[in-house]
Formats: sequence, structure tokens, C-alpha cells
Amino acid sequence: MAKTKTSAADAGRVGRGNGQQSRTVAVIGGGVSGLAAAYYIRKLAAARNLDVRVLVFEKEKRAGGKVKTHRRGGFVIEAGPDSVMTANSNLMELCAELGLTDRMIGQRAENQGVYIFSRGALEKLPEGSGAMLPTRVMPMLTTGLISFPGKIRASAEILLPKSTVHGEESVAAFVTRRFGREIYERIAEPLCAVIYAVDPEKASLKRTLPYLARMEAEHSSILKASLAMRKRPGNASMPTSVSFEGGMAELVDALAGKVGKRNISLGVEIGSISRPGGRMAGKYLVNPLHGHALAADAVVMAVPAYEVGRITAGMDGQLAATASEIPYSTLAIITLAYDSDRVSDHIAGTGFLVPRVEGRKVSAVTVSSNKWPKRAPKGHSLIRCYFNDSYTGLHVSSTDARLVEMAKEELRDIAGIDEEPAFSHVQRWEKGMPIYTVGSGEKVSAIEEMTRTHPGLFVTGAWKRGIGIPSCISESLNSAMQVIEYFGKAK
Ligand SMILES: Cc1cc2nc3c(=O)[nH]c(=O)nc-3n(C[C@H](O)[C@H](O)[C@H](O)COP(=O)(O)OP(=O)(O)OC[C@H]3O[C@@H](n4cnc5c(N)ncnc54)[C@H](O)[C@@H]3O)c2cc1C
Repeated sequence: MAKTKTSAADAGRVGRGNGQQSRTVAVIGGGVSGLAAAYYIRKLAAARNLDVRVLVFEKEKRAGGKVKTHRRGGFVIEAGPDSVMTANSNLMELCAELGLTDRMIGQRAENQGVYIFSRGALEKLPEGSGAMLPTRVMPMLTTGLISFPGKIRASAEILLPKSTVHGEESVAAFVTRRFGREIYERIAEPLCAVIYAVDPEKASLKRTLPYLARMEAEHSSILKASLAMRKRPGNASMPTSVSFEGGMAELVDALAGKVGKRNISLGVEIGSISRPGGRMAGKYLVNPLHGHALAADAVVMAVPAYEVGRITAGMDGQLAATASEIPYSTLAIITLAYDSDRVSDHIAGTGFLVPRVEGRKVSAVTVSSNKWPKRAPKGHSLIRCYFNDSYTGLHVSSTDARLVEMAKEELRDIAGIDEEPAFSHVQRWEKGMPIYTVGSGEKVSAIEEMTRTHPGLFVTGAWKRGIGIPSCISESLNSAMQVIEYFGKAK
């Protein structure tokens, strides 16, 4: 049970002997969102000469949350994300500030292309499909993935008028309306299932792929919009997605380094927050499951939405109930390391995706050693298999041995890989990814609205405005600015 005794780090002290009030901010959750929030609060406070102490509470023994890199015998194994998109300027600026720009690596040039397992064979995804849909007419017309009538239907997208749909549309409805059912089933559905771990029939277009809704609104057609975008000058030298030489953990390690070890409490699970009265009125008590409570002037919750629900349950039942309604999917990443580089020859390009209509268990396979440099020692291969519970095969409670067996069976059946791995790595992510369902945007707005009734309380995280790391960083910058603005008003 949480104790209400407060620690020596109580807020409200007079700081630095300059008569300025010292403030304490508790950041709950030490994933990329929490670490970025802590980093930005410290940075913004320093720029304004504010005396602000930031303390991060992380329940695990390591910071980083889903961003987790496991290194073994020269292999670099990503248990969570394996890349970041570079289009987000907040991410790029942050990486520059952290000294990570020179650590960024692009994909290996010699193994370009993603394949789709379709009707029993691996077919190359048409070029320009990275944005979830084919954005170029020629590759779409020449792909073996889509039937001739399917190609005609998809090409007609350029002629279709813009939407007259009222209300929120699902990703499936949008793609089918614009490009036809076949493009949806064979291309958009597997991409959506892997990147967003969500069933596109339930996924909100506006929240999951807002840029597609914008492209249609502004150009009346996705193909027309893509053509216009290709004509714009861009930064040709920067790849669209990158990783870091030593793996994605470099990002969270660098952030944690800047926030400072002494400001991050690892292995501390927060059970609740409450608002004390008396001399501490106006503050929050941040109550760990074990140990002393901390009195804070502001709290940033950077935990999954269901944890926001659990932590606020005693303080605001309605906020807690709404946060607990945000759905999550469960994932597992099974990585197999091989002593031979011939294994990766079974799979061309960087790997393949599996549409649900194929009825397989695995939803995607990435040959990490083909995709990135420095992921496996010379002469070795590293293959990552991606399972999620919206496909049939994942029972997260299965033993590691069973999950590894399942990955091996899928690689044997789909890619003909019969070799025994030298070792394997299993990572389960139970309730690992928020699902942006139709209607979830209203829930997020409602949570924000309810949070505003608790001055000094802020929320950030992947469940708000984008699952990808760059969106988490932008959202945390936003929360940090709100904290500083709050301190400005509360002088
Ligand atoms: C398998 C997988 C692949 C992905 N691939 C990509 C990709 O390639 N590119 C990309 O951009 N994004 C990718 N993502 C998404 C991205 O990694 C996540 O959205 C992002 O890392 C979430 O960060 P977060 O800090 O919001 O949440 P989390 O990483 O979940 O961090 C929350 C933290 O809060 C802690 N916590 C929870 N409850 C408490 C409590 N009560 N007290 C204290 N601490 C608590 C948790 O231990 C955790 O460390 C992927 C995600 C997964 C799961």
C-alpha cells in the first residue's frame, strides 16, 4: 500500500538562494515519452531561468519502455521498434541536441524492397507503397500482387472525386473506397497490421493515417497528391527512416543520460496520485507501491492509457474509466540468430508482410541483417518475426519454446528456412500498442479535458497523437511546454 509520508524531495522549497520558488515535477513512466518530457522540461526551465527539479519514476529496472535493444555476441536485436521516420523535425532536432546525428544509419542500399506473401508466393511490394498505399501508378500497374481488374480499379483512384463521407471513416473503408478491395486486402491491410498492430476495419483513418485524409482533402486524390509531393524539393541525402549504429536504445540511453541518473528512479512503480489538503494544498502526492510518496507541483503521466486509469482511479473515477477504455493490442517479437549468412538468402529485400487473408500466424518478418548494417557479425543472419493477437497465432502465455517453434514453422513454410538458429530471443509486449479505433479521438480529447480540471496534471504517450517515436517526442515537447506555461501562470 502507498504511504502518504513525504520524502525529503518535497516541493515548495525556496531554491538557489535567489528568492525564486523551486518546483518539482514528477514524470511517471520512463519510456521515450517520459524521458523526452523530462528532457524538455529541464531544457525549457533552464532557458527561462526557472528552478525546476524533474524526477522520473520508472517501474522497470531500465529506462526506455518499448525502446529496447538486446546485444549478444555481435548481434544487435531490437525487442521493440527498429527504426524512426526522419520527417519529424522535433525528432531530428532532438537527435542533434543529443549528439546522435552522426550515429544515425540508413538501410543497406543493396537489399531494398519489401515483399508480401500472397497466394503462396513472395511478391515485391510495389515501389512507393511506404505510405500504406501505392503512390505511383507504374509500379502499381506492373506488380504481380494485384489482378488486372484490381489494377484498373486502383488506377481509377486518380479520377475519383474527394470524399463526401460524413463522420469518422475506418482505414479499411477509406482504402476500399479510393483504391478497391484488392489493394486493401493485399497491401494496406498487412502494412497497417504490422506498423500499427491494428485491424484496419476498426482503425480510424483520421487518427491512424491523418496524412492520407489530408492528401485527399487537398488534392482530391492520393495519386495526384503523391505526384505533387514528388515535384517538391526535399532533403535527398536523408533516408526516410533510420536507426542508430548500436540500436534504437541509443536514443533512450542518450535521453536518460541528459536527464541524469540521479533524477531517474528505476524499479519504482507508482500506484496512485492524490491531492493532499492542508499545507500541501495545490500539490500532488505521487504514491509508489513501496516507499515514500513525493509531493510534486506538477505531474506528467507518460504511461500507457490503462495505467493512467489505474493511477488516477482514486482521484478522478471518470478520468480513470475513460483512460481505461483505450484499447491495446498484444504483440510478440521473436528474433532468430543464425551462424550462416546463407539463411538470409532465402528472403529477398528486407523481409515480408503477410496479409491476414493468407491465414498465417506471423504478420511480418524482417531480415534485420539484410535491412541494416551492423546487426549481425559477418557471415551470420538475424531474422525478426512479428506476431500480434489480431492474427490467429499469438497466445502470449505460450512458453518461449513454443513461440520460437511457431516462428521457425512460419519461416519454414513461407520462406523455406530449415536451418536451426544458434539462439533466439523472445519479447512479449502484452497490451503493447494502443489501437486508434474509430471514436478513440473523442476519448483522448475527453481525457485531456478532464485532465485540465486538475491544474498541474498532464498526460503524454503513444496513445495520444501518434504511435511512432517521433509523435511521442512531439507530444512530450507539447506537455513540457504546458508544464512551463503552468508554472508561469501559477507564479
Ligand atoms: C514491437 C513494437 C515495434 C514498434 N516499432 C516501431 C518503429 O519501428 N518505429 C517507431 O517509431 N515506433 C515503433 N513502435 C512504437 C513505439 O516504440 C512506442 O509507441 C513508443 O516507444 C512508446 O513510448 P512511451 O514512452 O509512450 O510508452 P512506453 O514505452 O510504454 O513507456 C511507458 C513506461 O512507463 C512505465 N510504467 C508503466 N506503468 C508505470 C507505473 N505505474 N509506474 C512507473 N512506471 C510505469 C513502463 O514500464 C514503461 O517504461 C513499436 C512498438 C512496438 C511494441
